[in-house]
Amino acid sequence: MGLAWPGVIEHYAEFLPVSDATPRITLLEGNTPLIRSEYLAKRLGDGVELYFKYEGVNPTCSFKDRGMTMALSKAVEEGAQVTICASTGNTSAAAAAYSTRAGIQSVVLLPDGYVALGKLAQALAYGARTIAIDGDFDDCLKLVRQISENYPVALVNSLNPYRLQGQKTAAFEICDWLGRAPDYHALPVGNAGNITSYWMGYSEYHERGITDSRPGMLGFQAAGACPIVTGEVCEKPETVATAIRIGNPARWQEASAALRESEGRIEAVTDEEILTAYRELSEEEGIFCEPASAASYAGLKKLAAEGFFENRECIVTATLTGHGLKDPDMAVEMAEVPEKAPNDLDAVVEMLGLA
Ligand SMILES: *Cc1c(COP(=O)(O)O)cnc(C)c1O
Repeated sequence: MGLAWPGVIEHYAEFLPVSDATPRITLLEGNTPLIRSEYLAKRLGDGVELYFKYEGVNPTCSFKDRGMTMALSKAVEEGAQVTICASTGNTSAAAAAYSTRAGIQSVVLLPDGYVALGKLAQALAYGARTIAIDGDFDDCLKLVRQISENYPVALVNSLNPYRLQGQKTAAFEICDWLGRAPDYHALPVGNAGNITSYWMGYSEYHERGITDSRPGMLGFQAAGACPIVTGEVCEKPETVATAIRIGNPARWQEASAALRESEGRIEAVTDEEILTAYRELSEEEGIFCEPASAASYAGLKKLAAEGFFENRECIVTATLTGHGLKDPDMAVEMAEVPEKAPNDLDAVVEMLGLA
């Protein structure tokens, strides 16, 4: 094959529920880098080889594009004219972009005041009908479910089964890149669609004999929004990681099955742990992701502190779900303010300690 990447549907068509009649609504998502950790891996354990699947370099800067190319392709095949979704931000950015690409209208319902600035900018820029609801994500999801059941609009939340199909391609890419399945795969868990997708992808490669093992799935929720960890719906989810601020995950059961079958773990990480991991990723590894994405590395650190990786030789992959520029306010808030200097060579040289 040539160098041109055709997008995840075309590349993995034989693994997806598409036919020649399915239009390919694509912005050439996928084929994201699997970046080997040079610095942070050492903190997990001597035998740990760590890779970050950097999903922030997708067309709308999160993994949601993998699901949305499938959701929109199937929606158009089925004749949809309008899409609708509830979103903590990234789903709406992807839905808006791919709906525009398909030549149809998108409607997005967002929890008012809880969507990071970059994501809101995207929904608006791509031309979505954007409605801020006086409620949280779970309220928005309830509304769009009812609307899509009663009116001719296509639901593109991860309740849409095609979303999960598209998202499983990230697991394929990891196996293709490594030439094997990792031993563990870590990722943040919100609505629990992505952990379900990865498990599906790893399992399918294993069933077809492309890989000879499947990883243990390591899911991490924010401590203020961790219903799967506690086993109870979280009525008032709160976390700085707005992408996983979800109290009643739509794919709860599927995620539980993935955790059980893979002999995996699901744990909560505090906002402080998430933000520390977030800074370490950008300042020490050179990878800028959004706060929710950093939950995967924060969780790995937590497991390491409990001795999980002691005397263990293993390959660990961790999904960094979205780009750091999605949430510029957080990045600036977390950093030192820029130093100031006069427009003067000597002054700047002196400041830098070079004089
Ligand atoms: C959607 C999203 C998540 C959570 O994924 P789920 O499938 O809802 O569990 C995590 N991080 C980012 C950046 C997201 O956009």
